[in-house]
Amino acid sequence: MSLDNPEPDGLDHRDLNRDLQVFATNPLIGSGLPLWLPAGAAIRDELQRLAKDIARADGCVDVHSPVLAKPELFERSGHLAKFADDMFPVMDVGEDGLVLRPANCPHHALIYASTQRSYRELPLRLNELAPMFRAERSGVLSGLSRVRQINLDDTHVFCRPDQVAEEVARALHSAIRAQLTLGLRIDYVRLSVRDDGPGWLGAAEQWAAAEEALRGAADEVLPQEGLALEVGVGEAAFYGPKLDLQVRDGRGHEESIATVQLDFTLPERFDLAYADTDGSQRRVVMIHRGTVGSMERVVAALLEHHQGRLPFWLAPVHLAVLPLGPDQDGAARDLADRARATGLRVRIDHEGTLGSRIRTSRKRRDALFGVIGPDEQSAGAVQVNDVVRGVQRQVGVDELVVRMREAHQSRSAVPVWSG
Ligand SMILES: [Zn+2]
Repeated sequence: MSLDNPEPDGLDHRDLNRDLQVFATNPLIGSGLPLWLPAGAAIRDELQRLAKDIARADGCVDVHSPVLAKPELFERSGHLAKFADDMFPVMDVGEDGLVLRPANCPHHALIYASTQRSYRELPLRLNELAPMFRAERSGVLSGLSRVRQINLDDTHVFCRPDQVAEEVARALHSAIRAQLTLGLRIDYVRLSVRDDGPGWLGAAEQWAAAEEALRGAADEVLPQEGLALEVGVGEAAFYGPKLDLQVRDGRGHEESIATVQLDFTLPERFDLAYADTDGSQRRVVMIHRGTVGSMERVVAALLEHHQGRLPFWLAPVHLAVLPLGPDQDGAARDLADRARATGLRVRIDHEGTLGSRIRTSRKRRDALFGVIGPDEQSAGAVQVNDVVRGVQRQVGVDELVVRMREAHQSRSAVPVWSG
C-alpha cells in the first residue's frame, strides 16, 4: 500500500471514471459487479478483438464453456480444497448442486478429455474469453480492480513434454506483445515459485522441472525485450510455478497483468493423456497462459496508466463532431455516417454552446473533436482538434476518415496527426 505517497498526477481509475463513464455500480446488483457502460464496452470490445487476434496468430482454437459446474469438478481439480473460501456457495437445484466456477481451467481440461488425443495433434491450444467468480467480501471490492466476476482472456495449451519450452516462449512473447500494444509498461517479469509451506500440489521433481522450463524461456525471451526477471517466493499457483508480467499503477500498487503457468497437476487429476508414437498413453502437460489479462484489471490499468487518454484505437470516442448550428447538421451526419461505416466510434453533440461542448468532449477524453462551421461545410472539411497534441487544423473529410481508420486498424501508438 502506498496511499501515503501518491504520484501527483496519478488519478485512480474510479476518479477518472467520473469523467469517462466506463462503468457503473448499483446497490440492487451489488458490489464488485460493475455494469459496463457504452464507453467501457467500446474499450472492452477492442481488448477482446486484440486477445482473439493474438490467440489465432498463436494457433489457438476457440471454445466456449459454461460458468457453472458440479462441486465435484472442483473437488477433482483441487480448487475446493484450496479456494473454498473464495468460492460462491453451492446452489441447490434438485439432486445436483451447482457452483459458479472459480477458474476456467477444469472446464478446458474436460474439453481436452472429450476425445482420444494423439501425439500428432499436439499442441492443442484452447482459447476463451471466459468469466470466473470470486466470492470477495464487499469491503475489499473496488472499482474494476477487485470484482466478483472476472472476465479473463484465458488460454490452455496441452502439449508434449518436448514442446514445453517452445510453448512457454511463445506464450511469453505474446503476453509481452499484448502489453506493448496496449501501451502499458511492463515493470518486470516475476518467476513465482512455491515456498516451504503446505498446500502446494504435485511432486518436488515436477516443481523443479517446471521452474527450470519457465526460467529457460524467460532467459531466452526477456533479454530481447529489455526486461528483468525477479523471483517471488510463495507467489506460485497452487498447481505450479508461473511467470507473471508485473505492472505498477499510478499509485505504485503492483498487479500481475498476464501470466504463463506450467501445470503437471491438473493433467494428473483429470487423467489427461495422449497416445504416443508407440501407442502407449503418456501424460500431457498443461500450460495456462493469458495475454491481454482480465478485462476488469486491464481497463483499470489502462485508465490509470494513460490517465484516461487512451491510445486512439482504444478511445471510447474517436471523434466528437460539433456542428456550429443547425445548418451544419447534415454535414455532421454525413461525416459521422462515413466514419462509422469503417468501424470508427463517432458521436455528434448538438446541445449547448460550442465552448461547453468542447469542454465536455475534453473532459470525456475523446481522442479528437471536430467543429463544422459554414466555412468547413462549404469546403467539405472539418476543423479538427487533438487536445493532447495541441493540433488544430482544417482537414478534408476524406483525409480525416482515412487517417482515423488507419490509426484504429493498425492499433498504432503513433497519434493520428504525427505527420
Ligand atoms: Zn488456467
